[in-house]
Amino acid sequence: MKKKIALLLVVLLMASIFVGCAKPAVQAEEEPVGASNETLTDVLVIGGGGAGLVSAITAAENGADVILVEKMPMLGGNTIISATGIAANSTKIQEEAGRPFTVQDHIDLTMEVGKDLPNLELVTVMAENANDAIEWLLSLGLEYKMHASEDHHLVPVEGHFGSLMIGAYRQEAERFDNLEIKLGTEATELIFEDGKVVGAMVKNKDGEYAIKASAVVLATGGLGNAPDVIGEYNPKYAGGTGVMSTAGITGDGIIMATAIGAGTVDMEHHMMRPLATPGYWIRETVVSDEEIGGILVNKGAVRFTNETASRWDMVPDVAAQEDGVAFVIFDADVAETSNGAAAIRNARMIEADTIEELAAELGLDPATLATTIEAYNNGEDEFGRKTMGKVTKAPFYGVKAEVASHYSMGGLAFDRNAQILDTDGNPIPGLYGAGEVLGGLYGAGRIFGNNTLDNIVFGKIAGESAATK
Ligand code: ADP
Repeated sequence: MKKKIALLLVVLLMASIFVGCAKPAVQAEEEPVGASNETLTDVLVIGGGGAGLVSAITAAENGADVILVEKMPMLGGNTIISATGIAANSTKIQEEAGRPFTVQDHIDLTMEVGKDLPNLELVTVMAENANDAIEWLLSLGLEYKMHASEDHHLVPVEGHFGSLMIGAYRQEAERFDNLEIKLGTEATELIFEDGKVVGAMVKNKDGEYAIKASAVVLATGGLGNAPDVIGEYNPKYAGGTGVMSTAGITGDGIIMATAIGAGTVDMEHHMMRPLATPGYWIRETVVSDEEIGGILVNKGAVRFTNETASRWDMVPDVAAQEDGVAFVIFDADVAETSNGAAAIRNARMIEADTIEELAAELGLDPATLATTIEAYNNGEDEFGRKTMGKVTKAPFYGVKAEVASHYSMGGLAFDRNAQILDTDGNPIPGLYGAGEVLGGLYGAGRIFGNNTLDNIVFGKIAGESAATK
């Protein structure tokens, strides 16, 4: 019964996130505004994902009048689709579970996974504020437990991580009369006067106008749905897609800030996934594990790579195929592994009793796919794979996958006050940032859950800096 009530609450919460709520602080659509009109506020927050909401709440808590603009018709960004959990250290949850993880452990792991490229000062700020961030989430009514195996990671006691988090932020935001959220309102350009950011041009369905502010917080997320921009910074990742991202994550913050002289860091360390499907990336082990032996084929139903190569080599190989598409194919043995079962479930893989039936359902030529798999099962291989002959046991599974962005490791240069830096490393007056738009925390690798933690830590710092400057 308790479970049912909790489930009902989650459904109601999700519904309120998606359909909007009657509270006056959140406008579903903005009042018509003429082009000559100008709105004034203390703090303008651009972007209504996790980082933007935390920044706006914190600025409002510090007494500032705040406007948050979100270009989509709903709040949440990519934070709302985050299905894992949050990185943490020194929390009572870890202590009570007898699985201690200290500030220093957190710093060390973040630096190690990032191959020592992350900015140690900024990582230290994030780790030192992690426990306060978790305490704040608990104070909003969210509940967490330990991840099954990772000591640095907390997951919700029940329910979907990202949607619960955005629901709680949204509810908290509604407490403040001095915080106004404008949905369907897109920032197009920062207003930069006398070396200082003093607002942004925004547009909604009725036109374009200026919002002037004493400080602006950029919280526009990363490059998840900006494959062209990713390709500009990373030619080897050109041809990717945005299938793992919400629609609004088009790199606007990076584009607007670099246009007025902001610096970037680590843009070449973009986190890509080679086998992405809408909203889910298939773990590469379903084809890369020599012991189990799934394969990849292209639209011509032929293999094109050594599937056991690293994820990083797989990305350009898949992107180079016709329409940038690969088909993940495996058999009943792979289906029994945890990653295989997850792929079948989350990527909605097609199941068939024969290879020919599977091919027909996937839109591949049945005879060619049968020949490809027969050759593979007979040990014929031109790509250097060691173990062959594994796609043998019915039922067979397949799905179309493509290269997609998963996380923008690089972003705008910033300092411990969450102020954005110019290309010479000097703070840009009036411009702050939080969340995935920032670069410098992760370098070449990110431990999972640090992203939602950095939303809170630097969202709070940005909100406070912007409100009190
Ligand atoms: P983070 O985790 O850093 O908060 P998210 O992806 O969760 O990032 O959220 C970023 C939000 O910013 C999204 O909701 C996106 O629609 C919004 N956004 C992006 N560009 C603009 C823009 N130009 N104007 C207003 N909102 C924007």
